[in-house]
This record gives sequence, structure tokens and C-alpha cells, in this order.
Amino acid sequence: MGIVVQKYGGSSVADAAGIKRVAQRIVNTKKAGHQVVVVVSAMGDTTDELIDLANEVSPLPPARELDMLLTAGERMSMAVLAMAIHDLGHEARSFTGSQAGVITDAEHGKAKIIDVTPGRIQTAIDEGAIAIVAGFQGVSQTTKDITTLGRGGSDTTAVALAVALRADVCEIYSDVDGIFTADPRIEPRARKVPRISYEETLEMAAQGAKILHLRCVEYARRYDMPIHVRSSFSEKEGTWVVKAEDVAQEESMEAAIITGVAHDRSQAKITVVGVPDKPGEAAAIFRAVADAQINIDMIVQNVSAAATSLTDISFTLPSGEGQTAMTALDRLKAEVGFDGLQYDDSIGKVSIVGAGMSSSPGISARFFEALSEAGVNIEMISTSEIRVSVVVAESQVQDAVNAAHAAFDLGSDEIEAVVYGGTGR
Ligand code: ASP
Ligand code: MG
Repeated sequence: MGIVVQKYGGSSVADAAGIKRVAQRIVNTKKAGHQVVVVVSAMGDTTDELIDLANEVSPLPPARELDMLLTAGERMSMAVLAMAIHDLGHEARSFTGSQAGVITDAEHGKAKIIDVTPGRIQTAIDEGAIAIVAGFQGVSQTTKDITTLGRGGSDTTAVALAVALRADVCEIYSDVDGIFTADPRIEPRARKVPRISYEETLEMAAQGAKILHLRCVEYARRYDMPIHVRSSFSEKEGTWVVKAEDVAQEESMEAAIITGVAHDRSQAKITVVGVPDKPGEAAAIFRAVADAQINIDMIVQNVSAAATSLTDISFTLPSGEGQTAMTALDRLKAEVGFDGLQYDDSIGKVSIVGAGMSSSPGISARFFEALSEAGVNIEMISTSEIRVSVVVAESQVQDAVNAAHAAFDLGSDEIEAVVYGGTGR
């Protein structure tokens, strides 16, 4: 009898009917002979509503109290879910993150899990009960205060518990049937990927595909915990996220070179215009951005014009951090002596991801040809071993995704993707 950890996202438990549906599903898993541990998110948009409430009360809520407030969302769902399971004649016990042994550092709002000691969970399931755990929260080892893991963090709670309990699988339920070759909302011919490696999933998630919390995939890869991403609204088999070797074995007949196309509209581009072409200038610029705690992504430096020996440097960053970066750079203007700054947040990033590309030449060429045929202009390019990303105008993101999807034959003949619920979580 193996242990199964199941995580249900906010859209799966959005209301009483959803809670009852999920309760039935959990009971079915138990009846099939498994020990079941469930991790829940807050119902529907509860977390956003709690954040709005906090901001109405105070423009800058203390991080400790904000965490205390937000963890209430998951505590509501765990308690009502346990009630619904009781109603079906099975015993369920709910636990906060702290009671479940999720120990974190003290970074409120983005705490990292440093240990999981699930003694009470193990006891509950050994006694035949179903254990329900509030996602996205823990307790700080040093301050003993309640912490949260960052938005979307319940995925990470689930994987961390699955690892600590030596579960057979961590099932992550949302309102789509799995991981698709592109976002079905903008690519109707997107196909469900049966198996995908941890590495490809990490690249897809980092490049804007809203599939899994990035840290949950890192955690699963480190401990080799298989994740089954599926919908709580259907019985269909979803996508298995597993080690690269296990994907290859399965698909050795016709290994796909490209696994999927990811897009991200949340980036902005800053161009520093007229930078003197001499040592130390780029260092000063990026030091200023780093000191403002901003994560940058792509960087492009032009060849300097011979006549002026001035150059332009562009980089991308999350648009939410654009203002901070512009302010930090503006302070540097006199010292570095550049001409000016340009800010553009109507850009988007489109990436193709696939483990097969490291061994097949011509992938970038095929991608860029497809973009050019679709009339999409490329503003910036970056690559990793298993990814090629381009920055394009935001208005051309959909065209770019569709063109790449077609160029690599990713589309299915029938419409496969169904989005059942709200937000994709
Ligand atoms: N409820 C939290 C959020 O909305 C955590 C989660 O859903 O994973 O971010
Ligand atoms: Mg949520």
C-alpha cells in the first residue's frame, strides 16, 4: 500500500460544490487502497482577496502579519475539505503547515523549506485517516513565526511532503488536463505532453508557462519525485514529470526535438542609450540593477558606432520592477555618462524548449524562419542548451507562438485542450 500525495489548487476547491467533488475523488483514491495525504490551496481567489484586504487596512502591512493573514486561506479549505470527507464516511484530519512539520527559514512571503518532519501526518495515515495539509505555509525554525512560501507555493508543499513521506507519486490537480505543448488559451491545437523531464519543465516554467511552481520542480528533480499533473475536473491521465532517462525510454521511437512553446507577457525591456564603450561601464550599470534586487533576464549589447564609440545596452526584466530599475539607473547617469534610458513594457518573450535540440542542428534557424514567415520581428535572442527564446512585440506574441508550434509539428488534429475552471491553478 503506497502513499499518494495529492495537491488541489484554488480553482479545484473554489466553492462548496468543488470541495465535495474533490472530497469524493480523495475517498476514491483511499478506497483504491492508497494512504492519502492531501495538500490544499486557498479556495478560488481567496489569497488575492486577503491581500486586497490587508492593503485596505495598511499601505505597507508588516510581513509577519501578512503571512499570518494569508495562511488563513488554506486553513479554511483544509477544514471544510475534512468535513466533506467525514460526510462521505471516512476519517480526515486537517493540519496547518506548522503541525505538518514544514520547517522554513524566516523570510516572510518567500520562505524556503529547510526541513520536513511529518510525524503527525505519518501517524494519521497509519491510523487509517486521510491527512489534509494547508499548502503554502510553514513555521520558521528560528523565530517560530508562521511563514508563507510565495505565491503558488502549495505545489512546493506537496512535493516536499511527498519526498519526506517517501510517497510513490505527487499528484498536482488543477483545471487543465496536464502540461500542453503551448498555452491552450492562445494555441487551440496544443497537445497534451504525456511525459516531460524535470529540466524541460523548469525551462517552461521559468519562461512563463503557468504550469507548476518553479521551486516545486527543482525540489522534485533534486529528490527524483515523479509529479503527475492532471485535472480534478476529469479522470484523464495527465502529464508525468520525470527524469530525462524515463522520458527518453518511453519515446525512443520518435523522440520529439521540441517539447513545447512557452510565452511570457510580463517582461519589460530597458535600453541604456549611448554608453561609452570602455571597460567598467556594463559592470556599473548591472551593479546598480542588482543592488536594487532586480532579476534580469536577457542582455544585448550592440557594436559601438565607429564615429562616436558609443553603444546601446538592452536588457529584460519583470515589468513590475521596471520603475525601480529606471530610478536606480537614472541616478547613475552622470557617473557613467550615458545619453538616456528607454523603457518598453509592450514586449513579450516566446521560447521553444526541448531536450532533443542539443543534438539536432538547425533548430534556431527553423524557429527564426517560421517567425519571419509570420511577419514577426525579433528584438532579442537568448539560448540555453535546451531552449531558444526571443523577445518580440507584445502584439505579436500569439502569432509567434502559433508559428513556432506549427513549424515544429506540435499541433494535434483535434482540439484536445479543455480549460475547465478559473485561472489555471
Ligand atoms: N493560495 C496561494 C496562492 O494563491 C498558494 C497556492 O495557491 O499555491 O498563491
Ligand atoms: Mg491560489
